[in-house]
Amino acid sequence: MRARACIKCKEYVVIHASNPLNQSKIEFFERKHHLHTLITVNLDEIKDQYKINKNNGSNGSSGENHNSNS
Ligand SMILES: [Zn+2]
Repeated sequence: MRARACIKCKEYVVIHASNPLNQSKIEFFERKHHLHTLITVNLDEIKDQYKINKNNGSNGSSGENHNSNS
């Protein structure tokens, strides 16, 4: 699986080639980061260092992971 990633922000979106909703999501991502450096890479190469850009349209997204180290 491949992803479009911004080196500067350390964010990425997963590329689903056959999904039109995903296409517009990638376009939005590219527009947002057009002054930055965008790369296309295999998801495996970046997913540990980059965070996914969740753009699901909900305002005030406070659904952060509770990273509880037990
Ligand atoms: Zn960026």
